[in-house]
Amino acid sequence: MISFELTKDQKALQKRLHSIALDKIRPYSLEIDAGRPGKIDKRFLEIIAQENLNAFIIPEEYGGMPLKWVTLSIVMEELGFGCAGFAGIYAQTLHAVSTILIGGSTIQKKTFLPLLLNPSGAVASFCLTEEKGGSDVSSFSTTAQLGEKGYYRLNGSKTPIINAGDAEFYVVWANTGTGRKGLAEINAFIIPRDTPGMGYGGLHDKPGLRVAPTATIFLEDLKIPSSNLVGPSGSGYLLFTQTIDRGRALVGSICVGLARAATELAIEFAKERHVRGRPIASNQGIGFTLAELATELEAARLLVWKACRRMDKHMDYTALSSMAKLFASELAVRATSQGMLILGQKGCKRPSLMDKLLRDAQMSRIIEGTSQVQKMIIATQL
Ligand SMILES: Cc1cc2nc3c(=O)[nH]c(=O)nc-3n(C[C@H](O)[C@H](O)[C@H](O)COP(=O)(O)OP(=O)(O)OC[C@H]3O[C@@H](n4cnc5c(N)ncnc54)[C@H](O)[C@@H]3O)c2cc1C
Repeated sequence: MISFELTKDQKALQKRLHSIALDKIRPYSLEIDAGRPGKIDKRFLEIIAQENLNAFIIPEEYGGMPLKWVTLSIVMEELGFGCAGFAGIYAQTLHAVSTILIGGSTIQKKTFLPLLLNPSGAVASFCLTEEKGGSDVSSFSTTAQLGEKGYYRLNGSKTPIINAGDAEFYVVWANTGTGRKGLAEINAFIIPRDTPGMGYGGLHDKPGLRVAPTATIFLEDLKIPSSNLVGPSGSGYLLFTQTIDRGRALVGSICVGLARAATELAIEFAKERHVRGRPIASNQGIGFTLAELATELEAARLLVWKACRRMDKHMDYTALSSMAKLFASELAVRATSQGMLILGQKGCKRPSLMDKLLRDAQMSRIIEGTSQVQKMIIATQL
């Protein structure tokens, strides 16, 4: 049976996060977006702690209160409605947790997952991309060499990395071969914060998702015990694809929230703004655009829910997850572009919500694999 109705608990959670998004996340994020790049704002760490967001992604045996994927997508949509950058901080934590949940040992889970339930708020980092490119995972130059007495030595750099410098731990992907030996030698390692040999570059000044701080991490002869290798040696590529497959649907829900924010803003403005004595919404040229956006929003959300429902049911979701991310992130770009047009000169001011949404939307179709990469994945599944 298919039901599109939310349960009482889901509605209550949605309502609570909607008011947090409107009252706290959005006002703080507009302020942060307009400023110089900085570390994660303490007020956001407080929201993560107060709302117990990390508990939603951690199993009960490690202190969490995990949600089903469909329910998590509702959470993500509201966070994305408040600010896609804030939601991105949370999404990267979720990725790091996912890798450990999928491939990690019981000791790794017991050691690292409870760190994220710190009452002061905590995040983790997922470190895959390198300067040379993020689309081709086999092009990694970061290496991990097995050395003396069961230790690996890591060398290389990862960029851009959300939560760099703020994370409790880093899930870092490296090549354990001696050169470029392909996917079979990619592996993931958990690196606790403040491990000697890890350094951070300056925070990036970027056009969108400014609320999610990004920086380069440097690994210089970083020594890590082989017990921090996630899963059996050589399983890293599969682990990566499994982690990212889950994450993409949820990044799709962040984009639904972002697109919804832009569409609602445009509808509100179009109803209020009068030109030649009537609201501009009453012109078909504007009304049709809004109707299309509202329709596509419903479609995007249903794609996300379907992908998440398949995750909950342990059914194959690779193509659907990519479809959800592709469709929702492209919709976010369309909604913010049309929204800016509808707001006219009112949208062309800084700081302004539509301006921030537009810049965030552009970057949302790059993170988590670009739109072209999503199409490549979908095509392989047809
Ligand atoms: C704000 C932000 C935050 C990020 N945070 C993180 C993070 O926390 N951790 C992390 O690991 N990564 C992170 N990333 C990296 C992100 O995942 C990559 O940017 C993304 O995967 C694309 O890689 P690239 O930018 O290196 O593009 P490239 O791989 O260099 O590709 C360049 C262009 O070529 C296209 N292209 C490549 N191959 C093909 C092909 N075969 N066919 C058609 N087109 C192709 C791409 O789609 C893209 O348009 C972040 C990125 C951004 C923008």
